[in-house]
Amino acid sequence: MQIYIKGIEDERFTRPLQLIANLFYEETEVLLEEGGNADLAIELQLHETAKKIAVNAILKDQSGNHYRASFEKELAEEDTEKERFTKIKTAISHVYLTVLQEHTGIIQKWGILTGVRPTKLLHRKLQEGVPREEAHKQLQEDYLISDEKIQLMQQIVDRQLAAVPDLYRLQEEVSIYIGIPFCPTKCAYCTFPAYAINGRQGTVNSFLGGLHFEIRTIGAWLKKNNIRITTVYYGGGKPTSISAEEMDMLYEEMYSSFPNVRDIREITVEAGRPDTISPEKLEVLKKWNIDRISINPQSYTQETLKAIGRHHTVEETIEKFHLARQKAMNNINMDLIIGLPGEGTDQFAHSLSETKKLMPESLTVHTLSFKRASEMTKNKQKYKVADRAEVERMMNMAEDWTKKHGYVPYYLYRQKNILGNLENVGYAFPDQESIYNIMIMEEQQTIIGLGCGAASKFIDPHTGKITHFANPKDPKTYNDSFADYTVKKLNILKELFSREETPA
Ligand code: SF4
Repeated sequence: MQIYIKGIEDERFTRPLQLIANLFYEETEVLLEEGGNADLAIELQLHETAKKIAVNAILKDQSGNHYRASFEKELAEEDTEKERFTKIKTAISHVYLTVLQEHTGIIQKWGILTGVRPTKLLHRKLQEGVPREEAHKQLQEDYLISDEKIQLMQQIVDRQLAAVPDLYRLQEEVSIYIGIPFCPTKCAYCTFPAYAINGRQGTVNSFLGGLHFEIRTIGAWLKKNNIRITTVYYGGGKPTSISAEEMDMLYEEMYSSFPNVRDIREITVEAGRPDTISPEKLEVLKKWNIDRISINPQSYTQETLKAIGRHHTVEETIEKFHLARQKAMNNINMDLIIGLPGEGTDQFAHSLSETKKLMPESLTVHTLSFKRASEMTKNKQKYKVADRAEVERMMNMAEDWTKKHGYVPYYLYRQKNILGNLENVGYAFPDQESIYNIMIMEEQQTIIGLGCGAASKFIDPHTGKITHFANPKDPKTYNDSFADYTVKKLNILKELFSREETPA
């Protein structure tokens, strides 16, 4: 699909306009210069003065239909160059989305937002002191977000502030992500750093050596600088793919290296695949006071699990859930995915009714996304998935079901190429929310990534500026270079958290 945009030349608009077009069509190309036979032409007329920007859009399709929209936005003299550009981009996106909605008949409930974290926008407005009603009005008028999604955002923001009342004051603390890049087998939709563990013991040993080093070194720096840890999350891969003894040594390292481990608000271990859970491993978790785990069924339909390459059975998920309960795991999250190949409302209803028998403390409902690097995307024709309307029905089923059973939404994120342009929503019983998930979504504090493929997000406690830093994804490169990566992270931490000591 090619869309020719007439009237703007600044190439910084190409990407945002392409992302919006992708909400309507698969793989759109946006052209700012005429040439070829574009499927659609949209003319933009911009009138910019010191005080306001006015934009008109006219869409002409190949059948000769015309659709028009206009929008005005006030500009302030004190706006920085960046703020001015953002306002102009918002105004252009506004009219562009409006004509595309009219042309296609598809209403985008998230309006012009294409980013991963819509709730961050509401947090920011509230933090700036914008009254709640006014903030909602702005979301609706400027960004064209539907009432339904604004209510959802507000509900989530309220829940997050109830779970973490000091959310806006945690900049001086950090959270830790620990990535263990192994899984029993690789799932078809997976793009995480996850390597089949069998036959790799040598690599696993060296990797764990590197990880212990990172935990020790970063932990020592945090202790020395009196920086507290809010939450720790073990993900990957699956951190329960390693042996019970290896897990035991790792948590021992965490307890001796990290500052005030007993005060950490939450330590989660993503046990994810039921085929990685054993009574011995659950004992180790219990020994180290780790009581929040994830056991992810994704679906309760056996054929689906087979189709996506998860080599475990539905019964195994249920059995491991009960085992975890017996071993005193009292905060269990389960993930379901809407729109897995071959699944529709019947299979999803079945997954929900099975969930009812277990009633985990939290339930995360993902919508399938076709991530570029996954096996599923590379062989898209092999996997038949539900259409937009059915995906939306399943999303509504999840919403109704969770509400009826006492769960409250507490975080959400969106992804590119997500079926039906919907979202992933985490639901939990009140006070059983994952604080780490809130931290990662709302970007209020630094998250230090340790281990393979672990992404660090350094947030300047004074300015909020974000610096991304990623450890190598494959174990071999990690094993060769973990020490260098640790030093680089320490340098960033020193820069951000030791600023007062720097001579003027
Ligand atoms: S269990 Fe998770 S991390 Fe492992 S291969 Fe499957 S999707 Fe990837």
